[in-house]
Amino acid sequence: MSEWMDWANELFPFNQSIRRDLHQHPELGFQETRTAALIARQLEELGLEVVTGIAETGVVGTLKGGRPGPTILARFDMDALPIQEETGADYASVSPGVMHACGHDGHVAIGLTTARMLASRKEQLAGQVRFVFQPAEEGQGGAFQMVEQGAAEGCDFALALHLWNDRPAGWVGLREGPVMAGADVFKVRIRGVGGHGAVPHQTVDPIVAGAQMITALQTIVSRNISALKTGVISVGAFHAGEALNVIPAAAEFGGTLRFFEPGVQARMGERIRSVCQGTAQAMGCEVEVEIEEWTQAVVNDATVTGRLEMVFRKEFPELHVDADCQTMASEDASAFLERVPGVYFFVGSANKERGLTYSHHHPRFDFDEQALTYGAGLMAAGIWELSHKKS
Ligand SMILES: [Zn+2]
Ligand SMILES: [Zn+2]
Repeated sequence: MSEWMDWANELFPFNQSIRRDLHQHPELGFQETRTAALIARQLEELGLEVVTGIAETGVVGTLKGGRPGPTILARFDMDALPIQEETGADYASVSPGVMHACGHDGHVAIGLTTARMLASRKEQLAGQVRFVFQPAEEGQGGAFQMVEQGAAEGCDFALALHLWNDRPAGWVGLREGPVMAGADVFKVRIRGVGGHGAVPHQTVDPIVAGAQMITALQTIVSRNISALKTGVISVGAFHAGEALNVIPAAAEFGGTLRFFEPGVQARMGERIRSVCQGTAQAMGCEVEVEIEEWTQAVVNDATVTGRLEMVFRKEFPELHVDADCQTMASEDASAFLERVPGVYFFVGSANKERGLTYSHHHPRFDFDEQALTYGAGLMAAGIWELSHKKS
């Protein structure tokens, strides 16, 4: 076992206790006040310079090394989700309807453990490490606010990670280039003319129009995007009507787009608008299409990825390093990686034997806490590598 892993192992009780404490007390995006206070207290104890209240509840701690060198940004998200927990764990959420179902409790614990590991060696550390604890990753764009408020300024490299229940604990995934997709959300509002279900010829039926639009949207990826590129369009909501014998006056649906390239994003958006407008015209309805940009793809820098892959393979022979990992899920960490060359990597966290295989955002989501040790070891070794050698 490598020195990094030994060290992370020693700190496992600390790592686990932070994770379980946060798991019991989850907080939604921009409301992470208890979480932020805990983080600030821990970082201050280690002697870091701490700034709170960035992007409302964000915390930034700076660890200065004993020698000159680059500034490394290490980012950890800290928000929970509006989900009622059903794990039955001893450390289950005590807040009704709020749950750490994505593993961000583990990310904060890994971040604080990494800070401990590096703070105890700060005399040998070159440059400085900026620990960025970000609020509101789950669709509220906390990263964009942190970046606007200067959290990424002056950084030479950036690292971020996600615990990943799609893969077992012991697996690590990274890849150069796009590793997570960009995402937009769209809403379509259709106005027709309501009336009695018995006399549809006296109405303009927005449900039939909406159904045709949703069917037609399925052709965009297959007919308008090159087969060599990747895109996803999924409709996640369709609302219309109340009574079974009434044709309503309006219908509304919406969904998400996923893409790795801005060109694909633009083409899908353009086609959604024209398919919906054309169908509405043919069906005699009025339509409004709204597309909102969420995040760009998370793109890993090739050189930094190469350096990290090398360190991971060398220092963690017990882990399986997968250098071709990619997902259509999205992340606002793109806001940091767009500005600072860096790497976003995945830390496998499932355990089949123990039934810890539920997907992220499931009410029974939980992970193998061994992944906390792997996460801290990998993050600390990654930061050390970027601090100490020239690219
Ligand atoms: Zn999530
Ligand atoms: Zn997440």
